[in-house]
Amino acid sequence: MEDPGQIRFENSYAVLPKQFYAKVKPEIMPRVNVIKLNKNLAEELNLNPDWLLKDEGTKFLSGQRIAPGSEPLAQAYAGHQFGTFVPQLGDGRALLLGEITDKKGKKMDFQLKGSGRTPFSRNGDGRATLGPVLREYLISEYMNAINIPTTRSLAAITTGETVIRETQLPGALLVRVASSHVRIGTFQYFYARQMNAEIKILANYIIKRHYPSALSKENPYLDLFRNIVERQADLISDWMSIGFIHGVMNTDNTSLSGETIDYGPCAFMDRFQFDKVYSSIDHTRRYCYQNQPKILLWNLSRLAETMLILIDTNIDSAIKKMEEVLGEFPKLYEGFWVTKMCSRLGLLKKKPSDRSLVENFLKLLHEKNLDFNTSFYFLGDLLVEGQLKKHMNQDHQHMMKTIQSSKWYNTWEKRLTSEEISQKELKKLMRLKNPSAFPRNHLVEKALNSAIYEGDIKPFNDLLGELMNPFMERSLQDPFAHPPKPSEEVTATFCGT
Ligand code: AMP
Ligand code: MG
Repeated sequence: MEDPGQIRFENSYAVLPKQFYAKVKPEIMPRVNVIKLNKNLAEELNLNPDWLLKDEGTKFLSGQRIAPGSEPLAQAYAGHQFGTFVPQLGDGRALLLGEITDKKGKKMDFQLKGSGRTPFSRNGDGRATLGPVLREYLISEYMNAINIPTTRSLAAITTGETVIRETQLPGALLVRVASSHVRIGTFQYFYARQMNAEIKILANYIIKRHYPSALSKENPYLDLFRNIVERQADLISDWMSIGFIHGVMNTDNTSLSGETIDYGPCAFMDRFQFDKVYSSIDHTRRYCYQNQPKILLWNLSRLAETMLILIDTNIDSAIKKMEEVLGEFPKLYEGFWVTKMCSRLGLLKKKPSDRSLVENFLKLLHEKNLDFNTSFYFLGDLLVEGQLKKHMNQDHQHMMKTIQSSKWYNTWEKRLTSEEISQKELKKLMRLKNPSAFPRNHLVEKALNSAIYEGDIKPFNDLLGELMNPFMERSLQDPFAHPPKPSEEVTATFCGT
C-alpha cells in the first residue's frame, strides 16, 4: 500500500515553454533536519505531518529525494530593483518542486528556498541561512493568522552546512507554499526580450490559475489587469492598516496572485512615523511606510507596459485603456484603506468625515511618536473604562494621557455616539480588528538569535505560539503591549542574502 503521507506533485509550470524556467535539481545537503514543521498547513495540504518528520518524508520535504510528478525548476523573471531594471533575476536560490492540491481543491505551489545554485544565481551561493528562514516563517504565518494574503511556510529545515555571509551562519531551507510564484517581474522578463508570444502564454496561465472569471469578459486581458490591480490595492491597504513595511517592494517581489511575498528586511512598525524605514539597504527611503501605495502604483504601471500588446492592436488605444485602469487605483486603494482603518477605530457607519478622523489619528500618533498597534488596541479600553487597567508603565501612561487629552479624542467619542450599539459591543468589534500581538522587531530578533547562535529553538516556538493567537485578550504587562526601550530597539533589518 502506498504511504498515506506520500507527496504527489502536479506541475503546470513545467509544461510551459522552456524559456520560462531552468530545470534544476535541489543540491544534496550534508544533514537535513526539520526544526519546524507547520502541522496545520501540512494537513490543509493533505500531507501527513508524522510522515514528513520521518526520515523518508523529510527527504522528500527537503528536496533530497524527488517526489513523484515533481520536475524541479527555477523560474525566470526580471525586475526593477530600487527603480533600476535588471533584465535577468530569476530563482537564484529557490526551486519550484511542483503543485499540490489542498483540501479546498486549490492548487498550491510547493517551493524550496535555499536549495542551491541555479542558472539564475549570478554571484550568489544559492543558499539561505537560518535567521532569514525563521524570520520568513514567523512573519508569513503571522500575516496568515491576521487574514492578510501571504505565501505560507510549511517547514524550516537546517541543512548541516555552514554558510558564509559577514560571518559563518547555519544553512537552512524554507519550504514555502503559495498560490503561485508569478511576479510582475515574470512579465517584465519576456517584455524586455520582446517575446510577445510568451507574454500571452503567461497571461493565459495567470487567468486560468487566478482570475478565471476574466475569460468571459469582452477583453479578458484588460479584465485580468483590472483584477490584479484590485487585489494588490487590497493587499497594500492591509499592510498600511497594520503598520507592515515590506522593505523591498521591487517589481520581482510583487506577486500576481495578490499575496505578500519575499519577506526580507520587512518589519512591523512600533512607534508610528509616516516615513519609517527599517531595511538597512533602503538608503533613499524609497520603500518607507507611506510610500508603499505609490510604489505599488508604479510597479503596476510597469506591469501595464508589458501587457499593452494584449490589450489592443492599436497601441494608443491600448495605452488609454490601461491608463484608465491605473487611474482608478487611488480611489480603489483609498476605499479599501478607509474601510479597514475605520473598523480599527470602531467607525462602522460610513460617514464622509471619517477619513479625516482616521488621518488625524495618524497625525497624532506621528507627532507624539506613539506606538502604532497598541494605540489602537487600548482605544477600546479607554472607550469603555475611561482609562487603561492597572499595571501601566510610563509608556502606557503617556499614551493614554496624550490620546485622551487630544482634540482628536473628543471628536472620536462624539462620532461614536452615532453608532447605534453600546460601547461594550463596540469594543468587542474593535478587538476583532486590532491584534494584541504582532511580531515586534526586538522580540523577533531575540528569538532568532537564540536559534542561530545558541541552537535554541524554544524562544522561536514560544513567540510563534503567541503570534498564532493574535486577537487574544492581553494585559498591559504582556511583552507585546510595550514598544521596545531605546536600548532594545531594532532600527535596521537585514535581508540576509
Ligand atoms: P530576494 O532579495 O530574495 O527577493 O532576491 C532577489 C534576487 O536575488 C532573486 O533573483 C534571488 O534569486 C537572488 N538571490 C538572493 N539571494 C541569493 C543567493 N544567496 N544566491 C543566489 N541568488 C540569490
Ligand atoms: Mg525576491
